[in-house]
Order: sequence, then C-alpha cells, then structure tokens
Amino acid sequence: MSVAPDARPVAVVGAGWAGLTAALALARVGHPVHLLDSAAVAGGRARSLTLAGTTLDNGQHILVGACEAALAQIRSVGVDPEQAFHALPFGLELHAADGTEALRLNPASPRLPALGRALFTALRDEPLRVRLRATLGAVGLLHGPLQKDVSVRAWLQHHHQPPALIERLWEPLCLAIMNTPLRSASARVLREVLREALTRGPEAARLLLPTQPLGAIYPEPAVAELREHGATIDLGRRVRGIEAPGSGASAVTLEDRGGQRIEARAVILATTPAAAAGLLPPGEDLDDTRDRINELGARSICTVYLRYPYPLPAELPPMLGLLGQYGQWAVPRRIAGHPEWLAVVTSAADDAAPMDADTRCATVAAELARCVPGLDTPVARHAVCERRATFDARCGVDARRPQPRTPRPGVVLAGDYLVPGLPSTLEAAVRSGLESADLLMEELS
Ligand SMILES: Cc1cc2nc3c(=O)[nH]c(=O)nc-3n(C[C@H](O)[C@H](O)[C@H](O)COP(=O)(O)OP(=O)(O)OC[C@H]3O[C@@H](n4cnc5c(N)ncnc54)[C@H](O)[C@@H]3O)c2cc1C
Repeated sequence: MSVAPDARPVAVVGAGWAGLTAALALARVGHPVHLLDSAAVAGGRARSLTLAGTTLDNGQHILVGACEAALAQIRSVGVDPEQAFHALPFGLELHAADGTEALRLNPASPRLPALGRALFTALRDEPLRVRLRATLGAVGLLHGPLQKDVSVRAWLQHHHQPPALIERLWEPLCLAIMNTPLRSASARVLREVLREALTRGPEAARLLLPTQPLGAIYPEPAVAELREHGATIDLGRRVRGIEAPGSGASAVTLEDRGGQRIEARAVILATTPAAAAGLLPPGEDLDDTRDRINELGARSICTVYLRYPYPLPAELPPMLGLLGQYGQWAVPRRIAGHPEWLAVVTSAADDAAPMDADTRCATVAAELARCVPGLDTPVARHAVCERRATFDARCGVDARRPQPRTPRPGVVLAGDYLVPGLPSTLEAAVRSGLESADLLMEELS
C-alpha cells in the first residue's frame, strides 16, 4: 500500500481500542494520523486507573480464546497474549448466597459430547426426562437454526432449558456476555458468541484473565507505536463539533472545546455511541445513522474492588459466580499480581435498585463474607461504575445497527457497537477499528 500524498492527517476521534486500532492500521501504511481523546489516558472503556496506590482497571475484563482479532492486535504491538492473560479451560462455578454450590459446569473439553455430558451432570437434581430434553436442547441452541431474532429467554424455553438451569446458568452467563438481562437480550447475538467460543475447539473456548493492567496490554504500547510512526497524539482534548461538507475533495474540520480548529482529510469517529451521535455533522443524510445510534441505548457495569488484610485463600476459584446477589462474579486479583484484592462485577447494574458507592461496596463485602467462609472485613474498597459500559444488546439489535460507512464522504464510524453478531467487547472494538480503517483507505485511494 502506498503512502498517501495528501499531507493533511486523518483525524481519529477516540483513543479506545477501536480508535487505537484504526489509527494504527492507517499509520502503519503511511497515512498521517491525528488521534484525539477527551480523556487524559488512552484505552476508553478498557483502561487502567490507580486506586489506593494500586494499578487496577476501570472494570474487570475477560476475553475468550475466540477473540482472535483482539489477541492478534495485542500481539501486533509487541505484547504476548500468552503472558498478558492467564488462560483457564472453559468451565463455570456458581455459588448460592449461603456459599453452597449451585452449579458447576466442568466439561472435559468444549467439544459437543463433553459439553453435553457436563450439562447432564450439572442437572443431576432434575428428573431424567428434563435432563435429557435440556441436554438435547442445548445442542439445538448451538447448532439449530434461528430464523428470527427473539429474546434469550424465549429461545432457551424453546430449547427446553428448565427454569432452574435458566436461573443458575443462562441468566448469569447472558449478563456476563451481553450485559443485558435475558428477558430482553438478543438470542441471535448470544448464539453467535457461544458458537464462536464453543464450536471451534479448546483454544477458542479458553477464558482469558488479564495478568497485567489493561493499559499495558494494548493502549500504552499502541500509543507508543503511533508516536514512532509520527502520529500526533492529543489526549485530554475534547472534540465538540465536526464539519464535513462532503463536496469536492472531502475535507473535515474538527473543533475542540476551546474553539480551536483542526483540518483533516477525513475523520474516523471512534467515540462511544452516545458521543458519536452528538458529533456527527448536521444534515438530513445522517439522520438515519444518528437515529440508529441513539436507539442502541446503554447498560451499566459496576465493579467493586475489595482489598483484604491478607492474601486471599488459594482455594478461591479464579472466577466465582454469585447467584441471586448484587455482586455477580468474584474474580480474585492474584492472577494480576494483587493477592489481597478481589474484583466483584455487577453487569446491567441499572437493572438493580440504585445505590451510592458506599452502599454498593458494603453490600458486596457483606455478600462475600456470607458466601466465602473465613473472609475478613476488607481494609479498602472502591466502586467503579461505568454508566454507559455497553450498548443494550436487546432482541433485534443486529437489524438496527448503523453502518460504519456513513453517507457523508470522509466520515467513518468505528466502535464496539458496529459489528453484527457481537455484543460490546474488545473483540468488537478491534474488528470495527480494522474495518473502518479499511473503508476509509478505500475511500481515500
Ligand atoms: C466495566 C466494563 C467491563 C467490561 N468488560 C468487558 C469484558 O470482560 N470483555 C470485553 O471484551 N469487553 C468488556 N467491556 C467492553 C469493552 O471495554 C468495550 O467494548 C470497548 O472498550 C469499547 O471500545 P471502543 O473503542 O469502541 O469505545 P471506547 O473505549 O468507549 O472509546 C471511545 C473513546 O472516545 C473518547 N471520546 C468520547 N467523546 C469524545 C469527544 N467528544 N472528543 C474526544 N474523545 C472523545 C472517550 O474518552 C473514549 O476514550 C467492558 C466495559 C466496561 C466499561
């Protein structure tokens, strides 16, 4: 690919994983790039922060081996995913509020016969007929057709999943994957994620927990490489408007909060969806794109970090599901080098009664004390709530997603909300960043 003769940069607004990926794809083939973000650090919704002198993340992130684009992108900036993540074979353990085991799914492999056996075993308290129908139904979930999108609940019921299994397995899994409750979540998207993870062998099904702060895994090395390519990196600079007349040689003008203008050849708008809808240039031709973005809605995720006065017991599983509680998944941070810390995640937190940060921390700490015998009172606790952590992956979402290529020349969207079949994930952000850079390069060539 040849270097662009035009000296004006391509502006990339948003230094999350989508924007960084798009910026790198452009810079690596010689396009001048100007990357802007309103935040002081790169990484967007997957960034590191310092709490009580410890570098943690804005939320506990987990990948699966099937996140091939994200893992390849991490590798491309010189970070070895095998070092950056601790890999666990696919399996789940969930406990009830009193600490008793509610469900353990521990397949010998993610291949169909082993998955079926594991599910059949997990259903040991159900009558034989229910166990058989649910196990065969689960095969249909992964391999049967789905002509029309329906809610996850309707889809599971259609495939004979009994209420106890829906409550103990599918609801927590759906929340963790989609950040959307199963009564409204898109069966099409969940099916796609499950198929990607569970039908492509043991590597794809592995659960990957970061061993390092997220910032060090991708955003920081990506920014360093962009600087090496001569890109302009403008962190802490909010864009408040974009003009793109769309006539003649496409050109774009960005205006920052202070009223300063930046001339660019084109723009990749890689912000959160809410910000993108507000930043799209005015004009009826973009009304449909704006409407589609606004319809995506948003869901929150709250993470409570608890620090105990001693390293947590080694018997605590690396990921423990907590059923029927405010905190849904407990992840001891020993894997990330913080043996006294525990992260507790609440997905779709907007679905629960509102709580202030202190109450949230106290609730989660009390739940854990009941569920994990011998756990002391934490000596430090912090709640990080991302109000707009993901879009609302509800039934029908794929048919209403906006297209990355907008009708306006020189304006392309990038972000985790644009990839059909995927919920808001790092994989979606990276795939979208790559696709948007390709679309723009095609347009500019
Ligand atoms: C708590 C939490 C937990 C999560 N857990 C997981 C997980 O386990 N696994 C997984 O794969 N994904 C997870 N996700 C989702 C994942 O983090 C996101 O899908 C991904 O980071 C989105 O990347 P993005 O680049 O599309 O958007 P963003 O990261 O939102 O990047 C957009 C950027 O645009 C910037 N911006 C916005 N407005 C402006 C403006 N006007 N001017 C300049 N800059 C602007 C923002 O500051 C931001 O940096 C989680 C998200 C959260 C919040």
